[in-house]
Amino acid sequence: MTATLIDGKAIAAELSLTIADAVKRVTAQHGIEPGLAVVLVGDNPASEIYVRSKTAKTAATNMRSMLYKLPASASEAELLEVVERLNQDPTVHGILVQLPLPPQIDSRKVIEAISAAKDVDGFHPLTAGLLSTGLPGIVPCTPLACIMLAKKMHGSLAGMEAVVIGRSNIVGKPLAQLLLMENATVTIAHSKTRDLPGVCRRADLVFAAVGQPEMVRGDWIKPGATVIDVGINRVPDGNGKSKLVGDVAFDEGAQVAGAITPVPGGVGPMTIACLMLNTLTAACAQNGIEAPSIR
Ligand code: NAP
Repeated sequence: MTATLIDGKAIAAELSLTIADAVKRVTAQHGIEPGLAVVLVGDNPASEIYVRSKTAKTAATNMRSMLYKLPASASEAELLEVVERLNQDPTVHGILVQLPLPPQIDSRKVIEAISAAKDVDGFHPLTAGLLSTGLPGIVPCTPLACIMLAKKMHGSLAGMEAVVIGRSNIVGKPLAQLLLMENATVTIAHSKTRDLPGVCRRADLVFAAVGQPEMVRGDWIKPGATVIDVGINRVPDGNGKSKLVGDVAFDEGAQVAGAITPVPGGVGPMTIACLMLNTLTAACAQNGIEAPSIR
């Protein structure tokens, strides 16, 4: 491997310590204990793991963690009632409804029901609108994590050629907006993009958010480029078990890239740290105090 490994786990651990200190100060000075409510519907094993790590990290960063569990059979109305109760609760500063939701529940309706001020995932249409018009607001966690990791390597992204593969509302599109704000030159690629390998080879920064295991090959990457792999894909490991891989063929990419994130241990842990940052920021905004400058 010739590329520098961008150790998301270590960078997230450092960020979490900074957040934990900042939370302590906010609590001591203003008497506010930032609180994050996580709502889990059903018993999807992957969701349970994600929720466990989010609640543990909330407590580890000195914030109040609240977990609401609903059965897989819960109706949309029941979930909307929980969300409304949390919207009204002044001790709850952030609300996260773990996705995916069971088929009888319309995720879009639930996301729109969350108060935009408490939308720490950053999925609400109002949050997306603020981001795309450059107004202050919550920044979605995964795109924010990607930017922070890229800036760890480069300081400034100004003038760099960035290719984002994927145009979802939760990763690709907001990530492209953030890159524009960083003055990168941005291309958004997707399933209808012609000559995707050729488009990628132009990039100084490649962000893969596709959901296709190891789709981005080594010869798609410009030598020396920085590769941020958002993908989380579970695949058979050849020994009857399974393993996690990203959207980039890591071993190939690491021979060509200048720097690359691993999966697991790259964007994933940084996303959770950014969720903590968003909860602190939301708690400060809801109480009319300036959020500590951390990014
Ligand atoms: P998504 O909603 O399924 O979007 C996938 C995007 O990839 C779409 O825009 C799709 O294009 C594009 N795409 C699919 N196949 C393609 C192909 N063969 N060539 C080019 N583009 C292709 O997924 P998502 O929610 O953005 O998530 C993407 C990945 O990131 C998943 O693996 C997910 O698990 C992971 N993820 C990780 C984190 C984290 O914390 N690390 C957070 C969120 C998501 P079209 O629009 O044309 O269909």
